[in-house]
Order: sequence, then C-alpha cells, then structure tokens
Amino acid sequence: MPLYEYEHCEPGCPSGKDRFVVRRPVNAPPLTHCPLCKKPVRKLISSFNTPNLLKPLSVSDAKRAGFTVLKRVNKGEYERL
Ligand SMILES: [Zn+2]
Repeated sequence: MPLYEYEHCEPGCPSGKDRFVVRRPVNAPPLTHCPLCKKPVRKLISSFNTPNLLKPLSVSDAKRAGFTVLKRVNKGEYERL
C-alpha cells in the first residue's frame, strides 16, 4: 500500500502535526477529514512517490543547490549571476 501525505486545512489537531502520512490502498478514496480531529485535510503530492528529479529545476532551486548560474549575455559570453 502506498503512503499518502495529507495536510490539515486548519491547525489545532490534537496530534500536534499539521501534516501526516497514511498508508492506504490504491483504490481507496482520498481522505477528506483527519481521522483524529475530523477537521478537513488536503492531500499533498507525496514526496515518497515523486522524486525531486522529476521536478523542473528553476534558477533559484539551482542556486540553492549550490550551482553557479550563468547568464548568457552575448554569443560565447556568460555573466556570473
Ligand atoms: Zn487532525
């Protein structure tokens, strides 16, 4: 059974966690309410099933990851941002 990550739409769950992970059958309908506090929850795109590799890398992501981002200013010339 895959893991699904959910986030509370409002804070105040007695679990003390805004986000939680549940293991559910693939064909089970998504949770709409927290099983603990019965408050509405929304499903997150699970980090377990979507590796970061699939995300398009933005310039700011690249910088955060330590890449040097070069801007092409002229043919054959690059400016260090
Ligand atoms: Zn809750």
